[in-house]
Amino acid sequence: MEILLIKDALVVPMTAKEGACKSFQASVGVVGNRIVLVSDEVDVVSSFLDKHPDCRIMDGSGKALLPGLINTHCHAAMTLQRNHADDIPLMAWLNDHIWPFEARQTKEDIALGMTLGMAEMLLGGVTSFVDMYFEEDHCVEVVDRMGMRAVLGCSYFDATIDEVLQSAERAVKAAEGKERIRISIAPHAPYTVSEENLQRGKRFAEEHGLDYMVHAAETQDELNYVADKYATTPVRLLDRLGVLDQRTILAHCVWVDQEEMALMRERGVTVSHNAQSNMKISSGVAPIAEMLREGVCVTLATDGSSSNNDLDMWEEMRSAALLQKVTTMDPLKLPAYEVLKMATVNGARAMGHEGELGVIREGALADLILIDLEKPHLQPIHDPVADLVYCGKASDVDTVIVDGRVVVENRQIKGLDLKALYRQVADSVHRILKIQKKDL
Ligand SMILES: [Zn+2]
Repeated sequence: MEILLIKDALVVPMTAKEGACKSFQASVGVVGNRIVLVSDEVDVVSSFLDKHPDCRIMDGSGKALLPGLINTHCHAAMTLQRNHADDIPLMAWLNDHIWPFEARQTKEDIALGMTLGMAEMLLGGVTSFVDMYFEEDHCVEVVDRMGMRAVLGCSYFDATIDEVLQSAERAVKAAEGKERIRISIAPHAPYTVSEENLQRGKRFAEEHGLDYMVHAAETQDELNYVADKYATTPVRLLDRLGVLDQRTILAHCVWVDQEEMALMRERGVTVSHNAQSNMKISSGVAPIAEMLREGVCVTLATDGSSSNNDLDMWEEMRSAALLQKVTTMDPLKLPAYEVLKMATVNGARAMGHEGELGVIREGALADLILIDLEKPHLQPIHDPVADLVYCGKASDVDTVIVDGRVVVENRQIKGLDLKALYRQVADSVHRILKIQKKDL
């Protein structure tokens, strides 16, 4: 069991319910996987050191200490397709590039892509992520090895539901006893999965005590499809099917009306906002400032790196804030603290740890990141939260602690040879593309 004392950091606790959160200079103690001390009093810190004389001391001076960022919707293994096909209309992009590539991936390719995605996220201060992809049972071990916290969503279409639910059972077994990893059932979307199969996945999730996630109301094409086929909207359809509740994550929700927002709040669903993916695919801008005002739990995410093209939550925070301001023509919309809350406090609900993750307070889970503030673009510091949200970069993250374990230090991921990983990824991609060419 690791015992840590992070001394004299600028702590951004994210504990304020209303208004901006006060940051302060303090030391933070961690025993096992919990934060046990947050204090600026010399006596209190000394008595922690007396009690734990062998604890590891980390110097927090010149650094900000934040809760780890939570990415609530991604397809981490899609790093293999980063920049493989860009600037192409959605259906041609899927049919001619993404799906043929995916059809030729092995489990090992997916595990490699997942590792690359996790490496990128960890180095950018992401400690928790919600994934939605294939072969998740095979990825449990990979996530466990990398030391991250994750919800792994077993994704299916109508044609693959049987095999995916079997793989979900294997994933549940593989995740047994691994507290950082949860399994979720993830139908692709209301326009690719039938009503019956949307419900079947939810029943399976309920029987096994699992979470549920689905892409919803992402594009106007989806809206038209659902209107033609079901004479309703995607969110109303999902509600009619009884799949919306506190254990459901809806990714995107770009096209939702006021009544649907109230419905989402009542059902207690978590919305995952993917600002840059929505921009790149030209889906539109989700009305998240309105959703937040309505009391919906809105979180932040990157989506897959084939439609973003990275897993950088700092860019997402900035894009989300700026998009709300420009579409509403109101600079007061989505202030810096609110957007940082989406990436931390709100994201905790998606991870099943509402109130004990995404905050720095005694008793909370010890997922923490240290940000190096001694950079030209972060100086001077008038307002630490605005500094981080509007100027911070993934490359400013120095140290990452997940569940009390130091997994990144001095921008190095412990136990991972990145150069070897890049070589393996290149070999894997080369092989997939060669097969693809031959088949075409
Ligand atoms: Zn997605």
